[in-house]
Amino acid sequence: MLPHARSAWIRTLGVLALVLLGALVLGLLAGQVWPVLTAAALGIVAWHYWRLRKVLLRLTSHRRLPPARGEGVWNELDRLLHRSQDDTRNRKRRLVQMLRAYRAAAAALPDAVVVLDRNSQRVQWFNEASAGLLGLRYPSDIGAPLGERLRPLPIAHWLASGRHAEPLLDVPSPVDPALRLSMRLIPYSQELWLLVARDVSKLMHLEQVRRDFVANVSHELRTPLTVVHGYLDMLDPSDQPEWAPILEEMRRQSQRMTQLVEDLLTLSRLEAQDTVSDESVGMASMLATLRREAEALSQGRHTVAVQDRAAVDLWGSTRELHSAFSNLVANAVRYTPAGGSITIGFAQQGEEVALSVEDTGYGIPAAHLPRITERFYRVSTSRSRELGGTGLGLAIVKHVLQLHQARLEIESEVGRGSIFTCIFPADRAHPRDGTGSGAIRERTQQPTRQA
Ligand code: ADP
Repeated sequence: MLPHARSAWIRTLGVLALVLLGALVLGLLAGQVWPVLTAAALGIVAWHYWRLRKVLLRLTSHRRLPPARGEGVWNELDRLLHRSQDDTRNRKRRLVQMLRAYRAAAAALPDAVVVLDRNSQRVQWFNEASAGLLGLRYPSDIGAPLGERLRPLPIAHWLASGRHAEPLLDVPSPVDPALRLSMRLIPYSQELWLLVARDVSKLMHLEQVRRDFVANVSHELRTPLTVVHGYLDMLDPSDQPEWAPILEEMRRQSQRMTQLVEDLLTLSRLEAQDTVSDESVGMASMLATLRREAEALSQGRHTVAVQDRAAVDLWGSTRELHSAFSNLVANAVRYTPAGGSITIGFAQQGEEVALSVEDTGYGIPAAHLPRITERFYRVSTSRSRELGGTGLGLAIVKHVLQLHQARLEIESEVGRGSIFTCIFPADRAHPRDGTGSGAIRERTQQPTRQA
């Protein structure tokens, strides 16, 4: 017991003893001991009930009552209750202030923030920006199912995938299709999700300007390069033998520039596309073409093998897939010293199908792998340039595979070689049942672009 409470307790017992003693003396003097003692005891009980009532009043009152003054257990109890009520009130005030500050901050965010019930996907709360970006209205949309409310957006499926939902990069706003949004779903508790939508219109516009710039510059460079190339071809080194090495170097460099421009144009074309054609890609002839190209590039310096183990063809764009696969084959030849071998494989991998290009070349240090598909990222710039690389091959591969909902996996060991595997989802494959190459698939449920 606290010293305060202990002394109050002793004092109360003392007062009780004094009152009883007084009553006893009064009783003896009056010759009526028991009636006087009983009256005193009843008085004490009544007083205690009165104090108990005061405690109840304090606990149930909505007003702030002042603390009791004076000594004794009841007054001490009253003061303790007053202090604990004060503490609780202060804590509550601080919490409410904090909550208001958080709400004000969330409400003032320029991004749309919507709190969703995880199970019903109904709106629990949203901030002001949600009105401008998503078209939500207060209070009618509180409790509304978000998927239906934003129906023009194809997000019902996305919402259903919950914590596995990849961020959507570029979706039109239901308020104004010119407004582009990026959306993320963030599960932040067992019951609630947060949907955050950000206006990325300016970013998308800048990205478009960048793409157009690269595409235009590449396009403009094409004609002068063709002219330079043409004139260089007309020059005969036997006319001026001392110019022969210079002419040879000029031809090599102009070829490199032409290849760079072509790769940039390919990348620009791929970036501008959201989907690819859905034709049947004959893999037997594709593998034969890749083998021929590998042999032509290798000029007998490597052993080239093809292992066709999947009796399926792919749905997709023959042109784009060929461009991706031939980039992998060209890299395998380029980065494998003479005497090495190159194996092009096509096989089923569980439900999926995989085209792999394996070489016994230089390999890639593990530290470079995460960035290897970035444009102009090279392990060794000098080696790539010397061997005729543009630094854009793997960026093209990545884009083509994304357009086919496929992914690129790379395994590599320095000094031992590399395996580049393009893995296609099961619905990109169909049996080689004589569906002619170029036949068009009947379906086009196009996915929204994801990060
Ligand atoms: P590049 O035109 O320089 O080959 P890529 O984008 O095709 O550009 O490849 C990027 C880099 O990845 C290359 O510069 C090279 O360092 C490395 N690389 C690609 N393929 C292979 C491979 N099969 N073996 C070793 N390194 C490779």
